[in-house]
Formats: sequence, C-alpha cells, structure tokens
Amino acid sequence: MARIRLMPDHLANKIAAGEVVERPASVVKELVENSIDAGANWVKIDLMEAGLQRIRIIDDGAGMDEEDCERAFHRHATSKIIDENDLFHVRTLGFRGEALASIAAVSRLSVQTSTGEEAGTKLEFEGGHLLNQGKSDARKGTDITVEELFFNTPARLKYMKTIHTELGHITDVLNRMALAHPEVQFLCTHNEKQIFKTNGRGDLLQVIASIYGRNVAMKMVPVEVETADFTITGFIAKPEVYRSTRQYMSTIINGCFIRSIPLNKAILQGYHTLLPIGKSPIVVLNIEMDPILVDVNVHPAKMEVRFSKEKELYDLIEETVREVFRKQTLIPDVQEPK
Ligand code: ADP
Ligand code: MG
Repeated sequence: MARIRLMPDHLANKIAAGEVVERPASVVKELVENSIDAGANWVKIDLMEAGLQRIRIIDDGAGMDEEDCERAFHRHATSKIIDENDLFHVRTLGFRGEALASIAAVSRLSVQTSTGEEAGTKLEFEGGHLLNQGKSDARKGTDITVEELFFNTPARLKYMKTIHTELGHITDVLNRMALAHPEVQFLCTHNEKQIFKTNGRGDLLQVIASIYGRNVAMKMVPVEVETADFTITGFIAKPEVYRSTRQYMSTIINGCFIRSIPLNKAILQGYHTLLPIGKSPIVVLNIEMDPILVDVNVHPAKMEVRFSKEKELYDLIEETVREVFRKQTLIPDVQEPK
C-alpha cells in the first residue's frame, strides 16, 4: 500500500504560510504590496491590537472579478507573471502568488472586491477553507479583513511579542512602503486612532517629513543622477544629522524596498569622513534600472536582491553622494601640495 500521499491544499498552504507570514507586519506588507500592484491611489490600514486581533486593508485599486477572486486564494495563483521569461522582467512587488493563500490558511479572512463594473464578490475563509461566498457592492477596489491571525497555528501564536513590538514592526513596514511610494496615500489607524498618514501627492520630501519630522526634512539634500543603466533620485541628509543605526538608510530598487549591506557601504563611503565614526546617515534613494539587471528571486520576503553591474552601481552611488557634499561646499576641495 502506498504510503506517500499528496497533501491537501489547505495543509500545504498552512505549511507554506510559515515562510510568508511570520507576524502581523508580514500580513500588512503582503496586502499593501498587492494594493500598490493593483494601482491603488490610496490604501487604508485599520489595525486592532497591533493586527493580532484584526487587520483590515482597503484600497481603490483595480479590484478583481469573481473568477479571479476565487483563483487568487489558490497557491501559486498570480496575475503578475505568465511564463519563465517574465521572471526576468518583474516590475511588480509580488509575483509568487503565495501571499493570499498563505494568509487565508492561518487566519479568518474575508474579502470584498469589485472591478467597479458590476456587483462585487465576497468570500470568507477560515483556516484556508471557504466558508461563505456572496456578492458585495460595486465600489471599485478591494477590502480584506484578517482576524485572529495564527488561531490554528498555536506554536506561531506563542511567538508573538507585545502589542508595542508588533506595532513597531508594522510601522516599519508602512514607513518603507510610504517612502517607496509617495504617489500612494497611506492612512493607518490603530485601535481606531490615526497613527500614520501621507498625502499621496508624490512628494518624497513630504513623506520624509511625516516620518522623520520637519527638522530632518529641512536638512535633506536632493539627489538626481542618470547613467545609461541607472537613474538615482532621492534625498540624503546633511552629515550633521546622523543616527546610530542603519535603519534610516532606505534604498529602493524599482519601487521595491531592499536591504543591502554593500549598497549601504557605498553610501557611507560617499559620506567619507563627514560622519562621526559608527554613525549612519538618513538617506532615501530610489534606484531605477532595467529589471533584467535585478534578480528578485532570492528570498520570499524579498528584502534582498542581487543585481548585475553591481560594481558600477556602488561606484556611482559613492561618487554621487560625495559630489552632493562637494557641491554643498561642505567638503573643502583638497589643495594639491605645492
Ligand atoms: P502575487 O502578489 O505574488 O501575485 P498574491 O497571493 O499576493 O500573489 O495575490 C494573488 C493575486 O491576487 C495577484 O496576482 C492579484 O492578481 C490578485 N490580488 C491580490 N490582492 C489584490 C488587490 N488588493 N487588488 C486587486 N487584485 C489583487
Ligand atoms: Mg502579493
């Protein structure tokens, strides 16, 4: 008798969820990324108890029709890539088709969505099982509520930290999203009190001001440089404003927030000796490049990427940062010894 069986979908999804959904902040990240990929102008995030009790994400994006909405909750269901070739041209934040299936597998989830043309679709899941299906109104966009995250994975639930810590992780996610997407308006409430808001007018300096404060924003210097392979825009703080961690160095590649030690190093080298030893600057750099140069396939949480022509990029960044402060005459030109 055969001992090997294929797992039922809901079990496979529950296991996969372990990778994608680590904590409430992962749910917020995945759902907000989907809203941005759907072309939303605004995303509203309502949290109860740091998302452990409830996370609701509403957007005015493209929405889904009934068939797509049902499909979206299957594992590996995505509208973002079709064939292997697309993998090298990913322009969206998601493409793995795992998030919705994974989140639904470890929570009670309900979705209402419409493309705006006809009545919308409503689905309700519990632990990945479809419980109810119906119609919703025809407002264009998507509205997803995730309740009792990890109710059926007690081991994971036990690892949740305090409300304060979990909310901190969510705030980090929202800050990064907002810095990478000033053209999208973000509105976030926690226990019905507003905790975060951007205006969505596309002004990065405004977003910097709402996250780091006006005083920091006033000390930011714009950066703009374009080569055949890269376009870099953003703001870097004057060296007199510094922080003790690298947390404030934001690097965004093609709209996707990433963490890269060598990129940070290149920025720091650009500041050269202007910063006190061990201190880090406040920086928001948007790097645009042909997706063919970026390998986004490294990690499901996708904070890491690899790229070709990395040496060129690091040199360009170092040189650009250095040039900004040379122009600001903060760095006196070194005199040639006579
Ligand atoms: P991925 O984002 O990797 O494609 P997801 O599981 O996150 O995978 O989402 C599956 C699909 O559901 C997406 O490809 C998209 O077509 C659709 N979708 C998810 N969220 C939204 C949304 N907020 N608005 C419109 N479509 C959505
Ligand atoms: Mg996604």
